This record gives sequence, structure tokens and C-alpha cells, in this order.
Amino acid sequence: MYNYNSVVAEGIGKNRLECITIKNIETGEQKTSEAGALFIFIGARPVTDWIKLNIYKDSKGFIETGRDLFKSENFKKTWKLDRDPYPLETCIPGIFSVGDVRAGAMNRVASAVGEGAMAIKLVHEYLAEV
Ligand SMILES: Cc1cc2nc3c(=O)[nH]c(=O)nc-3n(C[C@H](O)[C@H](O)[C@H](O)COP(=O)(O)OP(=O)(O)OC[C@H]3O[C@@H](n4cnc5c(N)ncnc54)[C@H](O)[C@@H]3O)c2cc1C
Repeated sequence: MYNYNSVVAEGIGKNRLECITIKNIETGEQKTSEAGALFIFIGARPVTDWIKLNIYKDSKGFIETGRDLFKSENFKKTWKLDRDPYPLETCIPGIFSVGDVRAGAMNRVASAVGEGAMAIKLVHEYLAEV
């Protein structure tokens, strides 16, 4: 019953969660079980449609950066610089993408913060060459 087509129908408890009711949406069957905690893994959707720049994104809208850009044949034709893109650099030189919105991200706070710090150094490297 707890496999597919199931949703959490109800959380039950006095001062804290004590039970959850799971409902099978195909059969309507419901089962209440003891539960001390409920962890929500809802996935993520990048909100990148608003970006007017023609940056490369994967099929889900996450922004491609660094060596991953070479997966696209078009990228090889359009990248004009002698160097490869820096890590975290998008297909537009000097524009970087970090954190969850980046394709292949680790989806952790520490990595998002670390990538932000890396990006500052990479921006300086980029500025030194223009
Ligand atoms: C339920 C849940 C639990 C998690 N638990 C953990 C955990 O235990 N440990 C851990 O390390 N990581 C955890 N994560 C992952 C962690 O939250 C992310 O990896 C991290 O927050 C990514 O940071 P970010 O800055 O890239 O993105 P975000 O934290 O998502 O920040 C992006 C910000 O940009 C804003 N924004 C979006 N579009 C625009 C726009 N057009 N203009 C202006 N602002 C905009 C958003 O409102 C948001 O504030 C969890 C994530 C979820 C969803």
C-alpha cells in the first residue's frame, strides 16, 4: 500500500506528530500508522524562464556550466574564447551560475555557499582577462 499512488492524507497528534494516515489514491484505501516525524522530499523546479540571456539549460531548466557545456555540439560552435569555460561559468563568458539552479548541483547549503565563494574568485579571473 505504501508504494506508488499514495499520499499523506492526515497528520495526527496532540502536541507533536504521532501518526500519519496514508491514502492510496487509486483504491481509496487508508491506513494510519505511528510516526514521530515526517520528511518532505518534493523535488525542485528551477525558475529560470525569466532569464532573457540565451544561456544553455538542461531539459528541466537547470543552467549548464563548465565542462558540462561541451555536451552540446552548438556550444563548441559558439564558444569564441581560446580557453575552456571556467567551472561554474555559463556559455556566456563572465556569467556564472551557482547553487541549486545549476545543472549537476549537489543540492546542499554548504555546496551552494562554497560555489558562491568560488564564483567570486572566478569573476576576478575573468575580469583580469578583459
Ligand atoms: C525541504 C528541503 C530540505 C532541505 N534540507 C537540507 C539540509 O538538511 N541540508 C542541506 O545542506 N541542504 C538542504 N536542502 C537544500 C538546500 O536548501 C539548498 O541546497 C540550498 O538552499 C541552495 O541554496 P541556493 O542559494 O542555491 O538556492 P535557494 O536557497 O533556493 O535560494 C534562491 C533564492 O532566490 C530567490 N529567487 C528565485 N528567483 C528569483 C528572482 N527571479 N528574483 C529574485 N530572487 C529570486 C528565491 O526566492 C530564493 O530565496 C533542503 C532543501 C529543501 C527544499
